[in-house]
Amino acid sequence: MDVASPAVPNPLDAKLAGPLGARTAAALAKGLGLDTVGDLLSHYPRRYARRGELTALTELPIDENVTIVAEVLEVRNRPMRAKRGSIVEVTISDGKGLLTLTFFNQAWRANELKPGVRGIFAGKVGDYRGSKQLAHPDYELFEAEADPATAKAWAELPIPIYPATSTVASWQVQKAIGVVLDALPPLDDPVPDAVRHARKLLPFSKALELVHRPTVDSDWGAARKALRFQEAFVLQAALLQQRQRLRETAATAREAGRLLEGFDAALPFTLTGDQVFVGGEISADLAAAVPMNRLVQGEVGSGKTLVALRAMLAVAESGGQSALLAPTEVLAHQHLRSIVRTLGPDLSARLRPTLLTGQLPVAERRKALLAAVSGSASIVVGTHALLGDRVEFYDLGLVVVDEQHRFGVEQREALRLKGAQPPHVLVLTATPIPRTVAMTVFGDLDISSIAELPAGRSPIESFVVPLAEHPGWVGRVWERVSEELAKGHQAFVVCPAIDATQIEPVEISSAKEVSTSPTSANVTEVLASLQSNPVLAGKRIEPLHGRMPSEEKDAVMQRFARGEIDVLVATTVIEVGVDVPNASTMVVLDADRFGVSQLHQLRGRVGRGGVPGLCLFVTAAEEGTLARERVEAVASTLDGFELANKDLELRQEGDVLGSVQSGGRSSLRLVRVAKDGDLIAEARELAAGVLVDDPTLANHPALREALARRLDEESEAFLAKN
Ligand code: ADP
Ligand code: MG
Repeated sequence: MDVASPAVPNPLDAKLAGPLGARTAAALAKGLGLDTVGDLLSHYPRRYARRGELTALTELPIDENVTIVAEVLEVRNRPMRAKRGSIVEVTISDGKGLLTLTFFNQAWRANELKPGVRGIFAGKVGDYRGSKQLAHPDYELFEAEADPATAKAWAELPIPIYPATSTVASWQVQKAIGVVLDALPPLDDPVPDAVRHARKLLPFSKALELVHRPTVDSDWGAARKALRFQEAFVLQAALLQQRQRLRETAATAREAGRLLEGFDAALPFTLTGDQVFVGGEISADLAAAVPMNRLVQGEVGSGKTLVALRAMLAVAESGGQSALLAPTEVLAHQHLRSIVRTLGPDLSARLRPTLLTGQLPVAERRKALLAAVSGSASIVVGTHALLGDRVEFYDLGLVVVDEQHRFGVEQREALRLKGAQPPHVLVLTATPIPRTVAMTVFGDLDISSIAELPAGRSPIESFVVPLAEHPGWVGRVWERVSEELAKGHQAFVVCPAIDATQIEPVEISSAKEVSTSPTSANVTEVLASLQSNPVLAGKRIEPLHGRMPSEEKDAVMQRFARGEIDVLVATTVIEVGVDVPNASTMVVLDADRFGVSQLHQLRGRVGRGGVPGLCLFVTAAEEGTLARERVEAVASTLDGFELANKDLELRQEGDVLGSVQSGGRSSLRLVRVAKDGDLIAEARELAAGVLVDDPTLANHPALREALARRLDEESEAFLAKN
């Protein structure tokens, strides 16, 4: 680590037990994962309420923890009907809607909760005989301001409402933050003065004070603006520094030679213009003595894997090895087969592409490990397990990560540290990434794009089958499938769930939709119904899903690839990479349960050969809903970049990075990639300026510390996940 430890410990790194005491600190750690002063102070309010303004009660969601401002209307204490004891029922109101609070055997509550008193109430919304209630809520009552002169300020004072849990209420967080803020010494600002002045931003300490203890609305507005900028600035500085560090490390330069020439000469097609261009960028990277760190994005079928294979041949020229990481075992198998096929017998014999996955039989696995460590295998294909400690390489020159979004900064950092010299890294992705997301998530990478598809690709027609308006059309779907089968083609039928009880995780706009989908189409039931559907009589229909053992999955895929299965009823295990040119048709059931990019990926499985593709998105979502809009968006265009932008628009705030976001506490709090594109770009430029003038940040100690803290958080999150 090149950052010297600071002489004076940073107040943000202090444990919470100091200022708050062990009990409160433990509650905050357990309930909200907050350990340090910095963690607590960056637990920002979700919104601001006012004592004079009541929260609308009519739209409270059932089963969720809520924090609301309301007025007590009525209090009753009555004996319970069937049991001994009494029940206090308190009706609170926002002036329109009503909500009942219930307390068992706590008659004394009636003394506190008097009609006319206002307060802030927190609890889980329950539904009792058709009316909403909070059982045993926490509350804090406002003390009425008697003096009319200050009454207005009292009513308008913003009350921060924090993300809370059933064990830690919003006002408990607020009190803890108050204690910490009172004892906080002035903090150095990671954003340099010049930048801050130019953008008219509040200093750090002031911003923290006002985000948590605003006296008027404009306070928290200005505070959030400063903190949001700081977040974007520190993130971009971290990514740029990462990039700069990588440039300072040495890697083995790799020059392509005979192997690649021979391969190119034997290719049965010519490379597309984009493949040639990106190939040029990659060979320039490989020929330099610093590690390549490049992302190649391009549509499914645009020939990214081929580009990566050519890079592997360049590395193999000087005896270096390449590792190809696939997201699943099925895809690793498929990659190996297609690499062997594409290389042809001679090159395969020389380069010995080898499969190394966790599920190999012991003897085979040992052989593969040996081939990797001895260097006899120039190409090793596997899953992420390849990065584990147990796998060693003789001379790892290149790591290719295929179709992998969950490969974040931390993993790339782990890779950089693997082996004596860091390997070159190439990340392939078929999901076009909007520029601001790329900057945020892959800001340490160079980016190449393949926009052009190889010639001779067949068009894909996409249709929405709207069951809300036309429930009968599903019958027509199966007729259409049987027509395709009659032409000798094959079909995929994709379901969101495996069976009525289990739902495979799908990438979706709102996680809630997954849990509330007991009726979504599932492989087991759809399989049974298609097998007994007279329209498909005599057809070979088989299942494929993530709960099948991996050899079985692989066997099914191979039989489908050989044309021995007509219809594959599957979950999203077929999402990425699966390449069966004869499969012309894809039916996606309950298509609204998938995200935009996932639907686009799925569609990419058809129209891969000379056979025109047909994609039917079946959905029961009503016209005008967001769910329906997503599906229509995908059906309306084949342009992945257009879809990526559309997706960004349709997604809910904060959900854009999904699991891409680096883990846990280190993820973005105020910056919203969907909205803050300009801010991110500006922050990047300004951060770059600072790093150019002062690469070691010797004159920017506060920024240096903020970057070190970020990296620590990231490695912690990484270790926690692995
Ligand atoms: P991606 O990884 O981007 O999905 P692949 O590299 O797997 O795409 O290529 C998809 C298919 O197209 C493969 O069968 C590959 O051999 C073929 N292919 C790649 N480049 C070309 C090209 N320039 N012309 C024709 N076919 C190509
Ligand atoms: Mg591919």
